[in-house]
Amino acid sequence: MNLLELALRRAGAPSLAEFQRREGLVPTGEADALTWAALLPWLLGYRDYRVEPGDNYSRIAARFGTTVRALITANPNQDPLRLLVGQVLTVPLGFPVVPTDLPFTWELLRLCLRGLGARYPFLTIRDFGETYYGRRIPQVAVGLGTRKVLFNASHHANEWITTPLLLRFLETYARAISENGRIFGQDAQRLYQRTTLHLVPMVNPDGVDLVTGAVREGSPAWENALRLSEQYPEIPFPEGWKANLRGVDLNLNYPAGWEQARENKYAQGYTRPGPRDYVGASPLDQPESAAMVDLTRRVDPVLTLSYHTQGNVIYWKFGNLEPAGAQQLGEDFAAVSGYTLSDVPFASGFAGYKDWFILTYDRPGYTIEVGSGRNPLPLSQFPDIYDRNLGILTLALAGA
Ligand SMILES: [Zn+2]
Repeated sequence: MNLLELALRRAGAPSLAEFQRREGLVPTGEADALTWAALLPWLLGYRDYRVEPGDNYSRIAARFGTTVRALITANPNQDPLRLLVGQVLTVPLGFPVVPTDLPFTWELLRLCLRGLGARYPFLTIRDFGETYYGRRIPQVAVGLGTRKVLFNASHHANEWITTPLLLRFLETYARAISENGRIFGQDAQRLYQRTTLHLVPMVNPDGVDLVTGAVREGSPAWENALRLSEQYPEIPFPEGWKANLRGVDLNLNYPAGWEQARENKYAQGYTRPGPRDYVGASPLDQPESAAMVDLTRRVDPVLTLSYHTQGNVIYWKFGNLEPAGAQQLGEDFAAVSGYTLSDVPFASGFAGYKDWFILTYDRPGYTIEVGSGRNPLPLSQFPDIYDRNLGILTLALAGA
C-alpha cells in the first residue's frame, strides 16, 4: 500500500478514475496536481469547509462522518452558536489520522503531524533539526505540566515501525484529552495538566526514507548509500540499513563512552561509514544526534524513552549508573508489557542516546526494544507492539 491507495481506501473509491469522476475531475486515472489536492484531506484526516446557509455543528458532523466534539476541539476559538455563512471551519474526518498498515516515510510523518495538529490544536509541532539531505526533523509537545518527559523513535532506519507506535499513541492520547477520557486507565486531563510530553517520532528521516523506498533508486543519495553498503556485502540493502544516509549509526554517536563504542565496533569490523555500527568521526558530528542533544538540554526531561526494535527487552542502565527510581519504574514497564528488564551487553553498551542521557542527568532513561524477528519488522506485529507499549508510554507520562 502507498499514499495514493491509502487516500482512495479512506475515500471509499474503488479506483482513481472513480474518485476523479466523483470529484468532478477529468477521470484520467492519473494522479495530477488537481487530483492530489482533492486526495489530500483523506491523507490529512481533515478538510477546510466553508459554512453554508442553515449549517450547524451537528449537521456538519453528520455530513462528514465526524462528531460535534471533534469539531469543537478542532475549532477552539469558534462559538458553535455563531457560525457565519462563508467562514471556514476545520472539519476532522471520521477515521484516525495515523495509518498503521503502510511503511512510514518522512512525507507520511509530516502529513500525520499536519493532520493531528489541525484536529488537536493544543499540540505544539515544530522542527528542531535538519538532516544532511534537508529533511527537517519535527517534534511534538503536548501538556501543561512542569514535569517533562521525552520519547523518541527511529534512531535506526530499519526500525521505523517505532514511528507509527509513537504517533498512534499521540493520537490516542490527544483524543482522550479532548474527550476528557482515559488512557490505559489514567485520566488523560490529569496527565495533560501534570506532564509535558515531548515526542520525536523520527530521529533519522533520511535513513527511514532509504529503507521504505522514498529515497528514489538511482538518485545521488541512493547511489551514495549503495556505494557505502558495498563495503558490507553481508548486510542486505536497503533493509539492513540502520544508519543515517551518511553511513553513521546515530545511536553510537553520543558522547557517553564513545571511544569505547568505537573500540568495540572497530573490533567487529565497522571502521568506516556504512549501513550500521559506524560510530562517526567524533561524538555528535551528525546533525540528528546534535539536534537531539540540544533539544534534550532545552527540555530538561525527568525521563526519556528511546524506541528500537529487536528482542522484547528494556535496557535501563549505563555502565554502573542506576538513576534513582529507574529500576522500579523499569520493573513496572516490564510488568505491563511482558518485556524483560535487562542489563545491556558490553559490546553495545556505549554512545547511545539513553547512555548519554543517563550519564548527563543521572535520571531514568530507557531503551525499549520492541518486537522480534528480522528488521524491518513486518506491520503485522504492529497491533501486538502497540498493545504492549500503551502501558509503558502511559506509565512514563504519569511518573511515580
Ligand atoms: Zn535500534
